[in-house]
Amino acid sequence: MSSLRRIAVVGGGLAAVSACDALRAQGYEGEIALFSAELGLPYDRPPLSKDVLLGKARREDVLLRPEQWYEEKRVALRDGIAVRAVRPRDGALELVDGSTAVADRIVLATGGTPRALPVPGGNDPCVHLLRTWEDAERLRERLLPGARVAVVGAGLIGAETAAVAHALGCRVTLIDPVAVPLARVVGDVVARALHQRHTAEGITVLTTGVERVERRPGSLGVLLHLSGYSGVVAVDTVVAGIGIRPATELAEIAGLRVENGIVVDTGRRTSHPNVFAIGDVARLDGHRVRHEHWEAAQRDGEAAALGLLGRPAPESGATWFWSDRYGSRMEAVGSMADAHETVLRGAPDNGDFTVFGLRGDRLVAAATVDRARDIKAARRLIDRGVPVDPVRLAEESVDLRTLLKR
Ligand code: FAD
Repeated sequence: MSSLRRIAVVGGGLAAVSACDALRAQGYEGEIALFSAELGLPYDRPPLSKDVLLGKARREDVLLRPEQWYEEKRVALRDGIAVRAVRPRDGALELVDGSTAVADRIVLATGGTPRALPVPGGNDPCVHLLRTWEDAERLRERLLPGARVAVVGAGLIGAETAAVAHALGCRVTLIDPVAVPLARVVGDVVARALHQRHTAEGITVLTTGVERVERRPGSLGVLLHLSGYSGVVAVDTVVAGIGIRPATELAEIAGLRVENGIVVDTGRRTSHPNVFAIGDVARLDGHRVRHEHWEAAQRDGEAAALGLLGRPAPESGATWFWSDRYGSRMEAVGSMADAHETVLRGAPDNGDFTVFGLRGDRLVAAATVDRARDIKAARRLIDRGVPVDPVRLAEESVDLRTLLKR
């Protein structure tokens, strides 16, 4: 650690801030420079599609850390300063203002960029994306009672946005070509229950794709041409929630290994020993997917701090995430795609329930609607690799914590 004096972190999101925090917690005393392309103090993103859109949270309510934290932790925040290129060999960072910074190690935490609608008219100003505070502010102004809003993409962010727009009194149409979105992520039963809720709440759900966005002459709205529909859907605002593209440009310029994200080892080291990558932009070598979730970004920062200081990587454990809609919370742990068999606990029609995913006698995943305790227990069962009896998993009278005792 003694030769390590300057660390530069690129990115102003959760992964970046978590890495800075963890470096100090691990006793690193050298310099930390945090370059964030966005202006202002780094903020949390999950509230953007929840309380921020609802108008219940201001920017100061969603800051990742208060202003004095940066001073206390000696993190030199350079906000509004994008990094244009990194040169790993000489530890240089070229900044957008034309200056250069140097560091012994560079951490890339550049997150992702929301995908624009890949159709003619997809870049119309009526089509909104949701990733930044400014995106949320712009969109909130459009979510007025009675406004006709189309949300394209019924994944996590699209579904949350549709629910919020509905709560604000908008007339919402949710469009997705997949009949049961999220089924691969949370399993068919949970995904179906979540998707059906949109219709039950009064949202129009269309299972189709958008072919073209056409501006309505003399109006602020647009017409959506849909696949397999002869007519058009006239709306005032469109929100595209069709996923993100990892912001890998800096890594590509630097010649690092990039395949669906910047590829890293368990210490979050890239193919260059002096460069690390974390959060939504990074993919663990040997893993199929990037984990674009809040807790994964937080943990990545902690893992990178250990890697930077030459310490062993932490136990990884099952990944967890949540999503809120219509006053319900969905949570999932592990990977449902790895399960060979599923077990249901509770009844989807009654509101709260959990689905467990098993491979042999081990739990590999669980997804729930409104049963946080089930997920907590499932996570421990997965992480400890405890053999489980499917009959007892399904039985409501069994306290799941007792399954932890072998
Ligand atoms: P980001 O938060 O994207 O931060 C990356 C930062 O890097 C940005 O500030 C960007 O401007 C900056 N940057 C990029 N390029 C450069 C450059 N060249 N120079 C300098 N800076 C640069 N997860 C959940 O688990 N549950 C949820 O309910 C949930 N809700 C969400 C709702 C919304 C609207 C969004 C957008 C995300 C949500 N997430 C949720 C996902 C979670 O917020 C992300 O996984 C997490 O924010 C990723 O953090 P990150 O630091 O990797 O990336």
